[in-house]
Amino acid sequence: MTAKLVVGNWKMNGSLASNRKLVKGMLEDRRINRPGVALASPYVYLLQLADLLQLSPMDLGAQDVSQFGRDGAFTGEVSASMLANVGCRYVLIGHSERRQYLAEANEVLSKKMENALAARLAPVLCVGETLAQREAGEHLDVIRHQLDIVADFPSEQVIVAYEPVWAIGTGKVASLAQIAEMHECIKATGLQRQSGSASMRVLYGGSVKADNAEAILSISSVDGALVGGASLDVDSFGMICQAA
Ligand code: 13P
Repeated sequence: MTAKLVVGNWKMNGSLASNRKLVKGMLEDRRINRPGVALASPYVYLLQLADLLQLSPMDLGAQDVSQFGRDGAFTGEVSASMLANVGCRYVLIGHSERRQYLAEANEVLSKKMENALAARLAPVLCVGETLAQREAGEHLDVIRHQLDIVADFPSEQVIVAYEPVWAIGTGKVASLAQIAEMHECIKATGLQRQSGSASMRVLYGGSVKADNAEAILSISSVDGALVGGASLDVDSFGMICQAA
C-alpha cells in the first residue's frame, strides 16, 4: 500500500524571506522532511523552493496550471511543461477557490488534467460541495458531476482531494462519517468510470489541524491530507505529517 501523502497548499501566502524561514524549519523537522510530503507554493516561489528542497526527499507542487497545452502566445499563463521543468511533481487542479473566484468548470479543468499528465505531473483534482448543496442533500451528486472528467484518465494517475467548501479555512471539519462516506463514493465513482482496476487515491482537505489529523488520517479510505493554513506553521504541519 502506498504511504499517505500530505500536501501543504500555501495558497497566496509567502515572501522570499518568510519562505526561507519556514522551509528551513521544515527541513530541520524529521516528521516533515521525508518522502510523502509536498509543498505547493505560489508560482513565483517554485524555483526558490526547488533550490531549498534540493537535498530533501520532500516534493514540490504548483497550485494551478494552464489549460493551454503548448507554449506560445498566452500572456500570464504557466504551462505544465514549465512546472515539470522547475521540478514540480504535483499540481493542484480545480481548487474550490479557483472554481468560485475564477469560474473554473469541468471543460477547462479537463484540459488542465490532460496537460498535467502529458508533462508527467501528478494532478490533484480538488472537489467539494458547498454548505447549501450539502443541506439540500445534493452533495454526492455534486461530487459525481465534478468527477465526470476523471473518466478520461487512468485511475492510478489521478489523485482526488475532497475538500468540502464549508470546511475550508473555517475551522469546521467534516465528521469522520461524512469523510468516510464521501471518500468511498469518490473511489466507487472512479472505479465505475475509469480504466484501470486500482481505485484513485483520495486526500481530505478542510481545516486539517494538529488536533484532528490523526483521527482523519486513520480512516482507511483517506489516502492523505491537503492542508491549507496549518501548512504555514512548522509545528502544526509537523504534527499532521506525523499522523500520516
Ligand atoms: P485549510 O486547511 O486552511 O482549511 O485549507 C484547506 C485547503 O483549501 C487546502 O487546499
